[in-house]
Amino acid sequence: MKVVPIAAGARLLLALCLVAASARTTGAAVKSRVKKARWPPVELFHVNSKETCHLRIADDRGRPVRGVQKRMDQFLRCHHTNTKFRMNPRLTRLLYEAGRHWPGRRVEVVSGYRHPSVAKNPHSPHKLGLACDFRIAGVKNTQLRDYLRATFPHIGVGYYPNSSFVHLDVRQGPAAFWIDYSGPGEGALYSGNAREDLKTGRADTFKPTKIDPTWADDDEDWQHDSATGGGAGAAAARPGP
Ligand SMILES: [Zn+2]
Repeated sequence: MKVVPIAAGARLLLALCLVAASARTTGAAVKSRVKKARWPPVELFHVNSKETCHLRIADDRGRPVRGVQKRMDQFLRCHHTNTKFRMNPRLTRLLYEAGRHWPGRRVEVVSGYRHPSVAKNPHSPHKLGLACDFRIAGVKNTQLRDYLRATFPHIGVGYYPNSSFVHLDVRQGPAAFWIDYSGPGEGALYSGNAREDLKTGRADTFKPTKIDPTWADDDEDWQHDSATGGGAGAAAARPGP
C-alpha cells in the first residue's frame, strides 16, 4: 500500500482508509496480505458516491485503529444531502466483520446515514446512524442475510428479494427480521411471516410485481426507507396471494 507524502494528520487517516486510486498493490499481493493479516483491510464501496474506503479496525497487534469513526462518518454520510452523522461503532464493526467473512469481496454500500429531510420514515434507524443497506459483491443476498442473522445478536435484518441489498441495523433489543417483497420505487410489501417464508422458499420465489429493469440504485433506498420502520411490526401488511 503506497501513501504519498502529505501532512501528518491526513497521513494517519489515509493509512486507515485509502481511496482506491492510491492502492497500487497487485491482486496477488493483496491476497497474500489478506491471508496473513488478522485484521485485513476490508474494501467498502459506496454505489452512490462512488467512493472507496479500505477499512481496518485493528492493527496487526489487535490495537484499535485510530480515525475509523471519522472516516466512517464521512463515508456513510447521507448521499442525498451530503450530511455527516456519527455512525454507531458497532455498525462499523459488523460491516467489517461481514466483509472479512468473505475475504477479497467488496462490501457495496447503497445507503448509510439518511438525513431527516430525506428519511420518510420517522423511526428509520438510518436517521440515527444505526443502519446500513449493503450487499457483498459476488455473494448472494440470501447468503448475506443468513450469515448476519446467524452470527450477530441485537440486530435488525431486512431482506429485499426484489431489490439489490440487505438492510442491517444495530439495536438494543432482540433481533428483528423482515422481508419486504416490493421492488425499487414501489411501496412496502411486507411478508406476513418472514420466518415461515424462508422455510417454504416463498422468500425467494414470490414476485408480487413486475420489476422495472430501468431502476437505478440511487432511488432504491427512498422507497425502502418508508418500509424500514416496519421492522418488528412488519406483520401488519400481509402481501396478497
Ligand atoms: Zn435500510
